[in-house]
Amino acid sequence: MAENEQQRQALARLQALREDYLARLPKELAELRCLAARLPQAPQIADTLGRLLHRLHKLAGSGGSFGLPELSHHARRLERQIQLWLDSPLPNQAELAAFAGEIGTLAELGRPRCRSGAAWVGLSHPLPRQERVHLWLVEDDPQLAATLVEQLASFGYRVTRFCWLAEADQACIHDIPDILLLDMILEADGVHGTKQPLTRLAALACPLIIISERNDFQSRVRAAKLGAEGYILKPIAMPRLVNRISRILENRASPPERVLIVEDDQLLADHYRLVLEHAGMTVDILQQPELVAETVFSFRPELILMDLYMPDYSGPELAGVLRQHDNWTGLPIVYLSAETDLGRQIKALQSGADDFLTKPISDAQLVAAVRVRVKRARVLMSQINQDSLTGLLKHATIKEAVDMALANAHRDGYPITLAMLDIDFFKHVNDSYGHATGDVVISAVAMLLRQRLRRTDIIGRYGGEEFLAVLPGCDAASAHRIMDKIRQDFAQLPFSQGDTGFTCTLSVGLACTVSFPADIGAKLLAHADRALYMAKHGGRNQTRIAAPHDPPGPEHSA
Ligand code: GH3
Ligand code: MG
Ligand code: MG
Ligand code: MG
Repeated sequence: MAENEQQRQALARLQALREDYLARLPKELAELRCLAARLPQAPQIADTLGRLLHRLHKLAGSGGSFGLPELSHHARRLERQIQLWLDSPLPNQAELAAFAGEIGTLAELGRPRCRSGAAWVGLSHPLPRQERVHLWLVEDDPQLAATLVEQLASFGYRVTRFCWLAEADQACIHDIPDILLLDMILEADGVHGTKQPLTRLAALACPLIIISERNDFQSRVRAAKLGAEGYILKPIAMPRLVNRISRILENRASPPERVLIVEDDQLLADHYRLVLEHAGMTVDILQQPELVAETVFSFRPELILMDLYMPDYSGPELAGVLRQHDNWTGLPIVYLSAETDLGRQIKALQSGADDFLTKPISDAQLVAAVRVRVKRARVLMSQINQDSLTGLLKHATIKEAVDMALANAHRDGYPITLAMLDIDFFKHVNDSYGHATGDVVISAVAMLLRQRLRRTDIIGRYGGEEFLAVLPGCDAASAHRIMDKIRQDFAQLPFSQGDTGFTCTLSVGLACTVSFPADIGAKLLAHADRALYMAKHGGRNQTRIAAPHDPPGPEHSA
């Protein structure tokens, strides 16, 4: 008993230590990035390298103990690199800049991975909720800057505005933005009217969105050269900008790639698994070819690495089996084989695989090849499943997600609450301020939902200005607390069209499985819809919970 209590306390202390470590880590990593970004200009390079070495050494030692082995490993590698430099001729500018970029990737590894067990990749919203995203805006036009700052703030972003690039470049000695928005003035030669290199900023490797009034090829190439991840034309369509920002943030926090390896050489399979896992991916090896469909169903890989020649069944045969399932027609299958004969390669591809990688392949090549293909597959999946204005799940996808979430909750015995939201008097918004402004309001609801709900919650755009949120593990009372706070905060958001400012309200209907134990799927949705109808009927701008004895509402209230 006493021993158990001691163990419990020790565990709690460890947990507290870990939380403390994780809480302090972002600051440490930010300081490292700043230090590294200054390297190319540092007057005493050896000195700065020495300081970096010390901090990386500490990081390498601690990361592994606190559940961040990749961070530890990467820090160790960088530490060794510095050691080499200090023992031999000092690095040149290009090497230093590349090194600073590598330090930037540490920040990515320092974020604890989000749950990888999501039943369906693409259904979870990996946007960093809770924490306020910090944007830097470099914009010399005071009026445009003021509008952008106000509108972005109404989407919950923290914005710091700079007039000139040099100011931002200077500021990043002390701070780092999550995303940099840069107005590109292209009449002048270079970015922002100067030929000034984006030294520190570039080394920070922070995502860049270019704002520009030019839509010609040359301007876009120039933006691409700067590594821009977005190119927004003036006049700025706010939903596009906000959507782009969310997408970048989602990518940054994307869950580990899920890869299934089909390979009869167990040693080789284990090697690939280690390499991919080391790069942060989640990997499974197919043990029995006969169970390929079951394995794909339960593991839900985003990519299959398939050997070509195996004793019992060939790669093309297994690929053929998978392609017979409607759900997996889009699943990338990549052959990994020593076959170099082009004719035989092409023949193998005809069975429905997408690509061919030839053995031997270096570890780095393998990781890069897998990563780029999964990334592309994710973009395709998101285009299929996500609404383009809000980035939320589309109607059909959210309905499927509701069914799946309810089935899981039923199986594992936890409650689930569905929340149906509808913007009040939205026709009036469109009529008075125009459709484009209406779109801003719709995006704002989406942003607020994504920021406030948990990663495990599922959010969809159910109709034009109707939204559906699925809150697993949430009873009606907690759901009411959360959703009603969202309703109240939404009512405070300032919108504007020209010089006219306005606000909007939401009505919310909730239905919890606890109140309707026998009803799942469409039936529970109908209860939420009925509660929404009651909210509308009761005067709008309110949240109602469906109860079993409620009077019946019309079929489709919202
Ligand atoms: P209520 O309070 O009863 O909900 O009143 P309402 O005016 O909001 O009524 P309703 O929900 O029926 O109105 C939906 C309107 O939303 C009608 C349609 O023109 C508009 N709408 C639907 N999709 C979009 C969209 O993508 N963008 C914009 N701007 N408007 C949309
Ligand atoms: Mg409405
Ligand atoms: Mg409606
Ligand atoms: Mg309505």
